[in-house]
Amino acid sequence: MLCLNDSIRHDDPGVQRSLRALEEALTLTELLLAAWAFARVVAIQVVEAVLAERARHPTFWPPCPSCGASLWSKGFVQRQVTSLCGPIRWRRRVGRCSQGCDIEQVVPFDEDLGLQPYQRSSDELQSLGCALAVFVPFTIAAKLLGWYSGDSVSPRAVWCWVQRAGRQAMDTLQGQLDAVSTGYLPTPEPLEAELAAAPLVLGADGVMVPFRPQGGQPEGKTKWREIKVGVLARLGQHRTRTGTVVTRLAHRRLVAVLGDIDVLKPRLWLEAVRQGIMSAPQVVWLSDGARGLWRLFDERFTAHATGVLDFYHAAQNLWKGAAAWLDGRTTHARRWFGWARHRLRHGNPDGVLADLADALELEGLPDTARDTVLKVHTYLDRHRDHIDYKTYKELGLPIGSGMVESACKWLIQQRFKGVGMRWSEEGFNHLLHLRLAWVNGSFEALLQVQSQVSPNT
Ligand SMILES: [Zn+2]
Repeated sequence: MLCLNDSIRHDDPGVQRSLRALEEALTLTELLLAAWAFARVVAIQVVEAVLAERARHPTFWPPCPSCGASLWSKGFVQRQVTSLCGPIRWRRRVGRCSQGCDIEQVVPFDEDLGLQPYQRSSDELQSLGCALAVFVPFTIAAKLLGWYSGDSVSPRAVWCWVQRAGRQAMDTLQGQLDAVSTGYLPTPEPLEAELAAAPLVLGADGVMVPFRPQGGQPEGKTKWREIKVGVLARLGQHRTRTGTVVTRLAHRRLVAVLGDIDVLKPRLWLEAVRQGIMSAPQVVWLSDGARGLWRLFDERFTAHATGVLDFYHAAQNLWKGAAAWLDGRTTHARRWFGWARHRLRHGNPDGVLADLADALELEGLPDTARDTVLKVHTYLDRHRDHIDYKTYKELGLPIGSGMVESACKWLIQQRFKGVGMRWSEEGFNHLLHLRLAWVNGSFEALLQVQSQVSPNT
């Protein structure tokens, strides 16, 4: 290694510059940054030396893809790729057809390196760029990547990598959805015993995202569109530092789609099977009063899960009923509400429903008040199977859907709703699927697949 150091020192002004910076560094920060620059220069030279050595080996030429005749070398041609350490250059033999066919250049050496014909940046640089873009805007991702590699990276390049990887994720998902629709169920994700024994929680919510107007043009009025997000998780117990045991979503998986409930449905089902809906000891669907979501539950999950109406949402409606019936400014209204809420929570929802039914019979109740009380009664009655809160508590199930909704909001809010952000449908979808891959733990597998199957810039 000392030999290498000596020889590089004499050969290369970049190494001399960074060694000088190392010697002159005063603070620890300066020292580390200089060492980092030095390490990059050395890394590039080591890689280039290995490549130069390998490129001298004899080349095995495949037959011409057009006519089948043998290929000839037209000599050594330079190639450059931007890597995490900076730009790397090497020279290698490029082939052409001995019969003069007009074919793309054939470069067995690059193929052996796993490079695509027009790839200008290395896979590990692209993967890191995609990972950063999952959390921060493209301009910031490009800047951070530039700091790390010591070479400038354009936001446009990061954007392109995300589009490609996102497209790959969407294609993979489509393949899985097609398989499910023809009757093939996916294999459940392996779980540790403790998690496998915990209840599986399902839920969904809608989150609005700002899009560019039709056609994706930057001009014009922002169009808000709803993203449907579903969450699937095991209900974990966690002891805080003060010793309190709190419920927490563990092994969280998210699904999301730009579209309505009906396009969310197969995605949520696919992931539910993967998360063990067929074998989980308990499955619970948590949701507030949104009609569409309960329809989804009825159509797809009712045979597998206990549906729980968000208790706080139910209580809120109960207050609306109390205020209309007994006049919200009175103690009487507050007292009945307190009593009704207590009975709802502790095992007597039918008593509450009976009170509301009695109220509807009252003579002299104004029509507007009657309408409100009727609405509340209908609402609770429709959800009669989802409001046995005492039982749910005894089973250790949650009765609030807040956890579910905040998981859904987090997926979208954190990255897609920054100040001034407006998305094109394609740009949004690709990044969304990359973000889903990240939060669902499939990012690395995706990027490996991606680097093998798609052409790169
Ligand atoms: Zn040919």
